[in-house]
Amino acid sequence: MANVYAHRDLKICSKDCLCLFVCPTGATNNETGQIDKEVCIGCGACMRACPAHAITMLPRQLPKEQEKTEEMIEALKKVIQNKIKEVAILRQLKEKEEDKDKKKLYQALYHSNKVIIEDLYRESGYMTLKSKKAQELLSELLQDVPQKESTIKNLLDKIDDSNSLQKV
Ligand code: SF4
Ligand code: SF4
Repeated sequence: MANVYAHRDLKICSKDCLCLFVCPTGATNNETGQIDKEVCIGCGACMRACPAHAITMLPRQLPKEQEKTEEMIEALKKVIQNKIKEVAILRQLKEKEEDKDKKKLYQALYHSNKVIIEDLYRESGYMTLKSKKAQELLSELLQDVPQKESTIKNLLDKIDDSNSLQKV
């Protein structure tokens, strides 16, 4: 059996059934609308025939997750710092820009960079508030950003509450 199988994205599929005609095994012909992974031999004929590009070949075995070393986390933090600077610049650009289309572009870049920052933080071990790193960060912020004390304390209280609920 090939080390890949076909996956159909039902949101894109236009239901023209071309994949059914080209499939040599009948893997695409079932009532769920999903290609049968166990019957698929990974030949890729359906993917090449699909006019909607709704079929993707996926690996049967996903590669092992890369270990996150301290070096990698430090590199992620540097990228985060650069992205934070970019977001600050984009905020100014979008506020000052008078051209409607350029303003929309800056707005979109501003939001997408903020999402990237969130993802990078998650990848650096700050996935949830309860993570040790997130708690350490909040405690540090309590010292460094006293003007946000009530917000930070509120977050720390929430962690305490959820920890004690888990023990009940
Ligand atoms: S990859 Fe080949 S066997 Fe698998 S569903 Fe597509 S046509 Fe059928
Ligand atoms: S060929 Fe593509 S668009 Fe047509 S039924 Fe198959 S997956 Fe859907």
